[in-house]
Amino acid sequence: MAEIEREAMEYDVVIVGAGPAGLSAAIRLKQLDADLNVVVLEKGSEVGAHILSGAVLDPSGLDALIPDWKEKGAPLNVPVKDDNFYMLGEAGQVRIPNAPMPPLMNNHGNYIVSMGNVCRWMAEQAEEMGVEIFPGMACSELVYGDNGEVKGVVAGVFGLEEDGSIGENTEPGMELHGKYVFLSEGVRGSLSKEVIAKYGLSDGKEPQKFGLGMKEIWEIDPEKHKEGSVTHTMGWPLGSNAGGGSFIYHLENNQVYVGFVVHLNYKNPHLFPYMEFQRFKHHPMVADLLKGGKRVAYGARAISEGGYQSMPKMVAPGVALLGCSVGMVNVPRIKGNHNAMLSGKAAAEAAFDAIQAERSGDELTAYEAEVREGAIGKDLKKVRNVKPLWSKYGLTASLVLGGFDMWTNTLGFSLFGTVGHGKSDADATEEASKHKPIDYPKPDGTLSFDRLTNVSFSFTNHEESQPAHLKLADAAVPVNVNLAKYAGPSARYCPAGVYEFVEEEGKDTRFVINFQNCVHCKTCDIKDPAQNINWTTPQGGDGPNYPNM
Ligand SMILES: Cc1cc2nc3c(=O)[nH]c(=O)nc-3n(C[C@H](O)[C@H](O)[C@H](O)COP(=O)(O)OP(=O)(O)OC[C@H]3O[C@@H](n4cnc5c(N)ncnc54)[C@H](O)[C@@H]3O)c2cc1C
Repeated sequence: MAEIEREAMEYDVVIVGAGPAGLSAAIRLKQLDADLNVVVLEKGSEVGAHILSGAVLDPSGLDALIPDWKEKGAPLNVPVKDDNFYMLGEAGQVRIPNAPMPPLMNNHGNYIVSMGNVCRWMAEQAEEMGVEIFPGMACSELVYGDNGEVKGVVAGVFGLEEDGSIGENTEPGMELHGKYVFLSEGVRGSLSKEVIAKYGLSDGKEPQKFGLGMKEIWEIDPEKHKEGSVTHTMGWPLGSNAGGGSFIYHLENNQVYVGFVVHLNYKNPHLFPYMEFQRFKHHPMVADLLKGGKRVAYGARAISEGGYQSMPKMVAPGVALLGCSVGMVNVPRIKGNHNAMLSGKAAAEAAFDAIQAERSGDELTAYEAEVREGAIGKDLKKVRNVKPLWSKYGLTASLVLGGFDMWTNTLGFSLFGTVGHGKSDADATEEASKHKPIDYPKPDGTLSFDRLTNVSFSFTNHEESQPAHLKLADAAVPVNVNLAKYAGPSARYCPAGVYEFVEEEGKDTRFVINFQNCVHCKTCDIKDPAQNINWTTPQGGDGPNYPNM
């Protein structure tokens, strides 16, 4: 692409990604100085189109950013009314009482929201303040300045030929330059990954850890709907095969978010996260709730789980990583939106001070200090051992140890210090010969669905005549290494059925990438044992079109 001539536009701050982190940064910059030129670029066809976290929102981030959000009509309409936690067995469940849970696990004061709708509302607030927001604009490259600093991004490249070359219909996009560039791409951002590698930002930190979150929206029988009810489960069907669990949130209009998270550090490459989710819905407690209802949407997204000890350095010359580009999810609470918002606010404040002092293109160290020492660091530090204890000792022991550690951390100390995560999720995968295949029941088409039918409910769409955005470093590895040693795990870990091993008589097995199905969850980039798949951004507007996830 070096030969392409592009126009450049100059801004004070260029923000990649219109999630809660990026939009909070944009709003805060304008609150501090209405004259700042701020642009937000979003790859989804509209703001919210790629936002999956049908969520219990801790409003502390919004309170700090827009204290009068209620008067301004923020779509936080469903306060949490009851909070249930169950350990599931195959045929039954045991309720874990709320009393022994550390106070930080309490959902009192939180709201069940569509984060897609919250982001749409935040975008309206930002636009009213003069922020330029361009949806349908994927940022595909970073632009570096003469001193090696990040000075901007390339956005809006459309119509490349299938082989990646420039054709008659190619629109070259433009460069957007900023005094500072904020990468708020969410978990495993493609430009963030480049920045982390280029500047060695993860050196000396624990590896980032991830889960795969899958979610369906159901409309259920009004008799069974309990607006404001929150349920989390652990145990069946994952058992000792993997960490993870489910969430069931009753929002408005007889709708329920039914979600399932599988920690991606599982060892057995035969595990099929999507099918675990489908099987989960056949548990009697869940089946009773969903029977008579209908699934109206489906989606999937990775979730960052490394927490406090995995946060990379988050600034480099000219650039800051925000929200889940860093990984700010409080794992036991399954909450990251409040920290994403707080990080956007903190980055904006640091950039404002720097621009006032006529600086540009340097490191916003004040931002990093605020994240580590302020509310975000405090929130994450208390729970830093929950995930590694779970990975080390399994579910039952970790419930006791992790619970105990959260209590002592609430009181200001930990007997464990800081427990490390060990291997990356890719390295955790073991060879197939060490594990037994898992027999999954066929979806019944009522409670459980085959993967491709469900993918059609993500409303994902990719222009077919463009290069596949899932790039293989070595085209031989999927068959020669991953199929041979790991039984081809991409055919199972992808929740959208993108990857297939096609066997035809008399021919070599072929690895097929159905990139059109991709829901931008990034699991392949994370879990591929050979780290041979690189998720790059397709052209803007492509990808899922989540209604109100
Ligand atoms: C299944 C699941 C359930 C969750 N439940 C909860 C919950 O109940 N409560 C809670 O608080 N948190 C929850 N989370 C975590 C929460 O979703 C994240 O912490 C939060 O989304 C992080 O916000 P963000 O702004 O950093 O990133 P995101 O919300 O991921 O937003 C990033 C945005 O950037 C865009 N983008 C990315 N790359 C580019 C690019 N190169 N060019 C242009 N645009 C780009 C994306 O399309 C997206 O719109 C959940 C996560 C998952 C996966």
